[in-house]
Amino acid sequence: MTNTAELFGINVFNERKMQERLPKATYKALKKTIENGESLDLGVANVVANAMKDWAVENGCTHYTHWFQPMTGVTAEKHDSFISPNGDGEVIMEFSGKELIKGEPDASSFPSGGIRATFEARGYTTWDPTSPAFIREKTLYIPTAFCSYTGEVLDKKTPLLRSMEKLSCEAVKLLNLLGKKDVKRVTTTVGPEQEYFLIDKEMYDNRPDLIYTGRTLFGAMAPKGQELDDHYFGSIKTRVSAYMNDLDAELWKLGVYAKTKHNEVAPSQHELAPIFTTSNIATDHNELTMEIMKKTAEKHGLVCLLHEKPFAGVNGSGKHNNWSISTDAGENLLNPGKRPEDNLQFQLFLAAVVKAVDEYQDLLRITVASAGNDHRLGANEAPPAIISMYLGDDLGALVESIIEGKDYRSHKAAKMETGVDVLPDFKKDNSDRNRTSPFAFTGNKFEFRALGSSLNIACPNYMLNTMVAEELSGFYEALKDSDDLDSSLKVLIRETFTQHRRIIFNGDNYSDEWVAEAEKRGLCNYKSLPEAMEHYVDKKNVDLFTKNGIVTEAEMRARYEIELEQYSKLLNIEALTMLDMAKKNIAPAVIDFTGELAGNVQLKNSLGVSAYAEKQLLESLSQKLESFVRKTEELDAAVRESGNYSDNLELAKYYRNTVFERMNELRELGDSMEKETSADYWPYPSYGEILFGV
Ligand code: ADP
Ligand code: MG
Repeated sequence: MTNTAELFGINVFNERKMQERLPKATYKALKKTIENGESLDLGVANVVANAMKDWAVENGCTHYTHWFQPMTGVTAEKHDSFISPNGDGEVIMEFSGKELIKGEPDASSFPSGGIRATFEARGYTTWDPTSPAFIREKTLYIPTAFCSYTGEVLDKKTPLLRSMEKLSCEAVKLLNLLGKKDVKRVTTTVGPEQEYFLIDKEMYDNRPDLIYTGRTLFGAMAPKGQELDDHYFGSIKTRVSAYMNDLDAELWKLGVYAKTKHNEVAPSQHELAPIFTTSNIATDHNELTMEIMKKTAEKHGLVCLLHEKPFAGVNGSGKHNNWSISTDAGENLLNPGKRPEDNLQFQLFLAAVVKAVDEYQDLLRITVASAGNDHRLGANEAPPAIISMYLGDDLGALVESIIEGKDYRSHKAAKMETGVDVLPDFKKDNSDRNRTSPFAFTGNKFEFRALGSSLNIACPNYMLNTMVAEELSGFYEALKDSDDLDSSLKVLIRETFTQHRRIIFNGDNYSDEWVAEAEKRGLCNYKSLPEAMEHYVDKKNVDLFTKNGIVTEAEMRARYEIELEQYSKLLNIEALTMLDMAKKNIAPAVIDFTGELAGNVQLKNSLGVSAYAEKQLLESLSQKLESFVRKTEELDAAVRESGNYSDNLELAKYYRNTVFERMNELRELGDSMEKETSADYWPYPSYGEILFGV
């Protein structure tokens, strides 16, 4: 099949297939569940399950799986076949409503942060009818939520779904109050732009650091990096292009709206952006996209790296979470319209986001914290670790004028005159882009730019939804008894902008002046995961999630423990990998090479020939080798001492402040030896070979 329109969604049990295959009444009941969140009875589920199974079997499926998103950060699946004995030694293919609705994977091996004792191993997966089932590799995939036997949430999808409900409920109340009585539902939408690296499989196979940790732990910079800006938007290489075409086709079959693809800043770095959809589907699709990116790479003899910082010295990879809110009538609530100065509804929603981001800036920082992202935030390529908002010139001026109580007239979108007759003139966007801001208004949506490339976007989105829902609820309370809604609104908007002005920053987020200024404004600047995570369970944050019914305090504490534990484990794996590489390959290679140099020096001396070059190199490398071996011992000791810590926060801090520092010191020496050691002796492919090897 070559026609993209026909290909699109071919492996998805989508609306059209439901309509074709379900009796009218069943279809209607299911639609109600999907659109209004009404619960589904077992009779309906039985019919749906049977239709799904028939469709899946016709398309070659033998198995089904409940697909879920546990706290590991990757998706999980357990496959069951459809076969059922019919009593005479043969089987029929069967799938019941009960099996569709509920699964019982053994939960004991998934992280639970101590909420669930191992003897209570039972966990449940529950069908999420709002995200369509799909087929991959002869299996019917059913998106599900995951909780423990006793009801504790063990996944990332459940809080996201709850937060979407909550935000909808609060936004609808407020819109109804403002006179929009027809609005029954509000949906948050997300379009995540995904960055990734693509390298040759053969190079990858020779790098234990990439294999075990997803990033290079050693590696001297190549003579060329990204300084020429020649990769960004550059012409796409044939091999990469073949990969991208294949990837698009696979994603389209799964109903993912893959839209944009281009080369990114670093050599070997690329990006894919889909068209936005609901937060829930966008999350499932982004998880799928990351998986399909990796699988498709295998077919092309390539490896897709989703780590936030695979290579030192060139940009790492992030993810831009474009986020907005719209009504069931399709009105985007963050669309300023032609006259934002007269659009109180827009101003109110904007004020809610501004207030939320200011009051919960720590949560936004925490939600993007990870061992990988620690390498990016605050370095000069990604937004800083300080959360602030960019509103652009026009909107920024409007907010200032509201605070100052001055009149404001927005500029009409200017016409861009190209000055060349054959080129059409066009309307300019109202605001330029500020690439340095972590949270930027971009026309009719916010772009949260601090996410790491491998992050599951469920977390940032449920935090964002919940904090905005909380502010909307406060606004509703403040306005609901007003006799003069118009003036109460204006007062509330003005007060809100005035109180939260400090979070708005339209300048260069990379500058040192901003760091100093942000400190004066009292904004938080948490530089690493342990520093950030410490504030996750602060009272105001616990209050936010418990009050809004998103997660309980026990669940939050569990999440806190899991994040810290995972951070330490990851750093431990990195340290052990480094030690392994240092002891088994790097030191032996340099010993061999210096041995050869020493032999040559002796030989040349005996012949009375100058051995100047060999001696210089021998001296330099021997010194570095000695320091390298000593640093290896220090790192070894540091890893062993980690056994002294039992508290997860203390342990994570120890890894960050001690083990990680030792790792950096060891790397520096290793990289410096690489620059002087013959390529014939160096045990690993170089940065140049990897980054320019495709
Ligand atoms: P850029 O790279 O310039 O930031 P792109 O066009 O590549 O912009 O990506 C913008 C992303 O924002 C796309 O995924 C797009 O679908 C998404 N987007 C556009 N409108 C909305 C919206 N209302 N809600 C959520 N996401 C949106
Ligand atoms: Mg972007």
